[in-house]
Amino acid sequence: MPSSVSVDLSSVALAVISDFYQRGKALPWRSNPPVPYHVWLSEIMLQQTRIEAVIPYFLRFIEKAPDIISLASLSEAELFKLWEGLGYYSRAANLQKTAKILVQKHGCALPRDYEALLSLPGIGPYTAGAISSIAFGLPTPAVDGNVLRFLARLTLYEDNILADKSKKYFTEMLKSVYLGKDVAALTQGLMEIGQYVCLPKNPRCELCPVANHCLAHREKRTNALPVRLAKKTRKKEDLTVFLIYDRAERLALQKRPESGLLANLYGLPTTSGTLCEQEISKALALYGISRFELLWKTSAVHIFTHAEWHMTGYALRVEALPSDWIGATKEELSSIYALPTAFKKLIPEEFL
Ligand code: SF4
Repeated sequence: MPSSVSVDLSSVALAVISDFYQRGKALPWRSNPPVPYHVWLSEIMLQQTRIEAVIPYFLRFIEKAPDIISLASLSEAELFKLWEGLGYYSRAANLQKTAKILVQKHGCALPRDYEALLSLPGIGPYTAGAISSIAFGLPTPAVDGNVLRFLARLTLYEDNILADKSKKYFTEMLKSVYLGKDVAALTQGLMEIGQYVCLPKNPRCELCPVANHCLAHREKRTNALPVRLAKKTRKKEDLTVFLIYDRAERLALQKRPESGLLANLYGLPTTSGTLCEQEISKALALYGISRFELLWKTSAVHIFTHAEWHMTGYALRVEALPSDWIGATKEELSSIYALPTAFKKLIPEEFL
């Protein structure tokens, strides 16, 4: 049994709802009545990304794809271009996969059902909870790291919040609180408190609508909670990346594999390990390149959620690119091909 002390959660929920109506932020995906497509799109964009960063992407996206049908019809290049800079491109790919399923099987609309939402690509328990409560008024909590932190402090929860059992515990706890409440406001109010008030360090308890209920606040233990056991370390990978230019200054791009990091995106030719200058000829011979001029050498590190790429880059000039490769001009790099940030780090600004 998780170690937390009981709190009057129903009163807490009412205070959160009231606070949301008084101080909730006006955001482009919030409307009355809510637009389910906007709620879904924003929740996917907000995964791993700050609200302020998402707003311009969201506005640009709905201008180009104002509804589910137009999202389903975007070309892959258009889709990734709209997503360029947001990172975690699998989110965009799943968004479109889901849009196509909605067009084929759900009458071009999101299902008003938590389990049905959960079965769609890219929609996990948090997102399904958020969409069904915010867009459809269903009593389904959305528990993410921010909400967990808030609840752990509120209830003086001493166990590791990163453990699966903690999320289950708080989700079940909230389900009973959600019944009979204004659930759209409750979900969004909890999100706002987690994002702006109950901050990871130095929470702003003076602004908190439930400070009088909060046990961590009362016990002066807000900075000691929540308990988070150390995350697993990221996997470190050494890579050699080739920036291969032809005489017309076109940069060689390759479509990445269908699975794994940066799946299906355009990337630079890459080989594992850190190759020295003497070793790159062999690697290039595998691409059918026997003659080249070495232009410069560079390096960069890119951090993903579960991996770190330590990249050594070699910029080369060749007479002509292999026929099955894509050669992108500087203009095409900025207008057509959404090159992931990891690779852009190796390219000098004047070439982008
Ligand atoms: S009183 Fe402080 S610690 Fe407690 S929930 Fe509010 S912001 Fe978080």
